[in-house]
Amino acid sequence: MAEIRVHHLHKAFAEFTAVKDSTFTVHNGEFFCLLGPSGCGKTTTLRMIAGLELPTSGQIFLGDEDVSFKRASARDIAFVFQMFALYPHMNVRRNIAFSLVSQGMPREEVGRQVEQAARILRITHLLDKPVSQLSSGDRQRVALGRAIVRQPLAFLMDEPLGALDAEFREVMCQELRALHDRLHATTVYVTHDQMEAMAMADVIAIMNEGVIEQLGAPLEVYERPASVFVADFIGAPSMNFLPFEAAMASGDSAITIGPAKVHVPAAREDVSARALLCGVRPEHVRFRDDSMLRAEVLGTEYLGTSTVVTLATAQGATVRAKVDVANPARRGDHVGLAFDAGAVSLFDAASGRALR
Ligand code: ATP
Repeated sequence: MAEIRVHHLHKAFAEFTAVKDSTFTVHNGEFFCLLGPSGCGKTTTLRMIAGLELPTSGQIFLGDEDVSFKRASARDIAFVFQMFALYPHMNVRRNIAFSLVSQGMPREEVGRQVEQAARILRITHLLDKPVSQLSSGDRQRVALGRAIVRQPLAFLMDEPLGALDAEFREVMCQELRALHDRLHATTVYVTHDQMEAMAMADVIAIMNEGVIEQLGAPLEVYERPASVFVADFIGAPSMNFLPFEAAMASGDSAITIGPAKVHVPAAREDVSARALLCGVRPEHVRFRDDSMLRAEVLGTEYLGTSTVVTLATAQGATVRAKVDVANPARRGDHVGLAFDAGAVSLFDAASGRALR
């Protein structure tokens, strides 16, 4: 396995720039997710790593080798871009063996490799079945088997679970992660689904309009989002944003929203008077009678293990609170809100960047 280093990568299609100055390292054995909305440049980034698209500028290193302009076939990388892309007229064994046979590997060795991959993926009992008779989950496993036997330096996967229903996607996420824990294969995985990324990734790169907005472990991007975009994209229901205007001095640990004093993590630097946003996740909103931050309950949504209460503050902001199902809030109720101070993020309203 090898490290992948992407250095100031840039890709323009005529006037349109799909990837802008992207720099990141996928460490040896890491499961790295490129996450972002449709059209943000994830696939283009992955295709450049694979060699299916050439960079406009910048470099890609596989281990120590600069592969930026090498043909895809000359890069020792397996691209699992559509797990359903199997040869339908062949059985499972021949599908998995295909690349090894084309390389001219001796029959016995091919057999051994295929059996081993099938054991890892728990599909030994399916080896002689035609792929046309397999369930979608088993087809995914076969597609993975084809990638595994090549023993590539890295795996690239583009929305491999995109076609599956939600429940099955969750199962496959667990399987992919378990497989990764066994193989420790350097993996770059593209998805627009934050749940997939949160469940599987060691590191997530969140992309927006061709730019990586934040790189970090799932917990880090969730708890310390670098921008409004990241805060909003990660988490469901998404983060609440309450606008306020303030100047803050380094060390200040309270802000005022309307008549209410709200405790926040201490500012690390002075902030001149300007429009800011107080960001708080729904699970960090509490109801407290004595709070001056008043709000009216607009509705409740029962989610089984929790209830999401939607409120409008007296200042006109919409806030969603994720509360215990036993919480008695009803539409029309007037309540006071409090936030868990340590979990509040502050953002510059104009640039969207987090204040650190
Ligand atoms: P999706 O999940 O929808 O594929 P993505 O984040 O993977 O989204 P890309 O496929 O990388 O996005 O595309 C980024 C942008 O580049 C899109 O606006 C797309 O239309 C554009 N683009 C991609 N390939 C080409 C191409 N060959 N020619 C012109 N524009 C392209």
